[in-house]
Amino acid sequence: MERIYLDNAATTATAPEVVEAMLPYFTQVYGNASSIHQTGREAKRALEAARRQVAQALHAAVPQEIYFTAGGSESDNWAIKGAAFANQKKGRHLITTAIEHHAVLHTCQWLEKQGFEVTYLPVDHDGKVSAADVERAIRPDTTLVSVMTANNELGTIQPIAEIGAICRARGVLFHTDAVQAIGAIPVDVQAMNIDMLSLSAHKFHGPKGVGALYVRKGVRIDGLVHGGAQERGWRAGTENIPGIVGLGKAIELAAASLDENAARMSALRDRLISGILERIPEVTLNGHPTDRLPNNANLSYRYIEGEALLLRLDLAGVAGSSGSACTSGSLDPSHVLLAIGLPHEVAHGSLRLTLGSDTTQADIDAVLRILPNIVEDLRNMSALYKK
Ligand SMILES: *Cc1c(COP(=O)(O)O)cnc(C)c1O
Repeated sequence: MERIYLDNAATTATAPEVVEAMLPYFTQVYGNASSIHQTGREAKRALEAARRQVAQALHAAVPQEIYFTAGGSESDNWAIKGAAFANQKKGRHLITTAIEHHAVLHTCQWLEKQGFEVTYLPVDHDGKVSAADVERAIRPDTTLVSVMTANNELGTIQPIAEIGAICRARGVLFHTDAVQAIGAIPVDVQAMNIDMLSLSAHKFHGPKGVGALYVRKGVRIDGLVHGGAQERGWRAGTENIPGIVGLGKAIELAAASLDENAARMSALRDRLISGILERIPEVTLNGHPTDRLPNNANLSYRYIEGEALLLRLDLAGVAGSSGSACTSGSLDPSHVLLAIGLPHEVAHGSLRLTLGSDTTQADIDAVLRILPNIVEDLRNMSALYKK
């Protein structure tokens, strides 16, 4: 059975061109980029070429603003802890939102235990943060605002340029977790007044375990990983050259086909969403109807459990994701679905399907054939569902 993978918000397949670009750096150019012999220098050249590729994709002013990390979680931790501690003489207040990824939320909660104060801004029913709320929350002791570019569960895109302009005017640092946005929507760190930005290769057809943090020139933050002098002394550890080469290639490919890819994916996404809404009763779309990632279809199916739906789909060859935090062993619905005001039972019945640049119309049509039968089946078994 051909499997249909619609969980691209969790991770994506590494593109064959990316794997091909990485391969020589495992067995041929395996030098340490800090070594001064030829193999080391060649690794160093590859490292700097990848830095330029990332800088170009983000419209950074200079490549030196890009620091490589081990992924999105590390970039988020570094940006937030690094900025909080570097600026604690000015103040110990941070602002974020209720719907951030746990890499941001749990970092902020940890900082609260270290004596920092954090404001968690609410979002509206579509999952949007209000820029006016951000402005109102800024205090004289606020040092950092962190708002994600687009949400990983709902796909809702935030008013990043507007928030960036407010933070710049008020002299507060602005970080954005753009892990879901890179490769999906245009991001320009200069036009959007972004001071720090987190990204992760495996969310846009690059390899896992490698990411980057953009830090605008002139912004000082504390280091997170201490040791050698790599990454201008800011992030220690022998560089993951194959991974970094893969990240550079993946972001270059994503940037080159951004518009075309986004147009194609949003057409497929809309076909999927409207197909589901037409075929299945008592279903609602979660997230913003228009300001959403081109690959995200998150819907709630009344009277059934998202988990059961997910497992039945998996048996039928379709990979998706449900909205509860089952990975953490908890039965609570996700903090994001609760933050947009969904009642528990509706949040429990949610299913996220996320497309990749390799998703086809045949995949979508197959899901539209399979899904209604599974939903009907599960509802017929549900004590809550009355026809
Ligand atoms: C996946 C994800 C992360 C974590 O990235 P990793 O590279 O898996 O550590 C952080 N933020 C968002 C929004 C994500 O989707």
